[in-house]
Amino acid sequence: MSESAKLHDRRLRAVAQGVGSVTSSYVSHGRGATVVDVDGREWIDFASGIAVTSVGHADPRVVAAVQEQVARFAHTCFMVAPYESYVAVCEQLNALTPGTFEKRSALFNSGAEAVENAVKIARHVTGRPAVVVFDHAYHGRTNLTMALTSKAMPYKHRFGPFAPEVYRVPMSYPFRDGLDGLDGPAAAARAIDVICKQVGADNVAAVLIEPVQGEGGFIVPAPGFLPALAEWARGNGALFVADEIQTGFCRTGDWFACHDEGVEPDLVTTAKGIAGGMPLAAVTGRAEYMDAVHPGGLGGTYGGNPVACAAALATLETMRVLDLSAAARRIGTVLTSRLGALGLSGEVRGRGAMVAVEFVLPGSLVPDPGRTQAVARACLRDGLLVLTCGTYGNVLRLLPPLVITDAQLARGMAILEDALRATAG
Ligand code: PMP
Repeated sequence: MSESAKLHDRRLRAVAQGVGSVTSSYVSHGRGATVVDVDGREWIDFASGIAVTSVGHADPRVVAAVQEQVARFAHTCFMVAPYESYVAVCEQLNALTPGTFEKRSALFNSGAEAVENAVKIARHVTGRPAVVVFDHAYHGRTNLTMALTSKAMPYKHRFGPFAPEVYRVPMSYPFRDGLDGLDGPAAAARAIDVICKQVGADNVAAVLIEPVQGEGGFIVPAPGFLPALAEWARGNGALFVADEIQTGFCRTGDWFACHDEGVEPDLVTTAKGIAGGMPLAAVTGRAEYMDAVHPGGLGGTYGGNPVACAAALATLETMRVLDLSAAARRIGTVLTSRLGALGLSGEVRGRGAMVAVEFVLPGSLVPDPGRTQAVARACLRDGLLVLTCGTYGNVLRLLPPLVITDAQLARGMAILEDALRATAG
């Protein structure tokens, strides 16, 4: 019996079934873009722990920073006895996020917690209840963020009732909107029409959107969609909130996906890639909004934990030193050109090193989750960690660490191409 099989056996008797795993190989260690399991098998990592380890596994700067910090102090609670690294992370977030206006940040533990706090702030500032979200959106698994998330199975199934005052409007989804010929501004007008008719402009606290949707299928909205929504929000007294939890920190080829069209959100939520694998999340936004909340209104025991903050500062340094935005663009070009050359039935899309294939049945837009799962299974069997996503379960997504070498990228792509050939027609 393999070491992984023994661990899996223990897991089945100890860990709740509701917590799934993509593979039943158990990890021993990782370095850069590879992971080694407890049986000594090496994997190329095209998942990055769901877009988290953008600086790679065991980045030397992150390891040193974490070790140094944990030996000094692991926790005081910033709300009890503050420390410099929390302030430094906020300073950097304020400088790096889109918009040159004055900003403030607050730190939390998880993406869902950051989104919840962005909604709290937007409601507090506007005195309004409604939050507008989009088809295919994913914002988390807590009660409020389940309501904000679109997909019922597995995220919401039998977990209701959900938080009120959440309204879902149509997304710009060029691959599927194409038949309507909807460009970005027209798709925004369609969404705004629903907001005005069904919610009422005066009731909207926040328009909350992932600038490139993650779990929903790596959906890149048509140009003009995000700017039109941001402008509508500003003109109607609502906050425009960008959830950059999956897209942030160089993943899309820039610090944030909103930079692409020069969109300046009022609030930005971040997590995942921010701290090289340590749990950390943030809300960053216009100073007048962030400072509007009374002292004590935001916080939490572990939010901005000093070890996570030390990891974040080291992560941001690595991103700057290695220019991981440029690396993301290079990786994206390799992935999309090699996938594009295969003539797959569906669409290859994404931005930077956030690349996906949406599989459909030939000559149609009918989702093909069967092939998607088969490709993912073949990759996992052959030593490549990949993930699927999409409302219809028919999207294969690739999120390699941005430090992946050319040779590792080529090896990963070769495994994927074999899987695609083996599952064709
Ligand atoms: N927002 C987005 C866009 C995400 O991709 C995720 C996680 N996949 C979340 C929120 C929730 O983050 P977490 O799992 O850290 O709560």
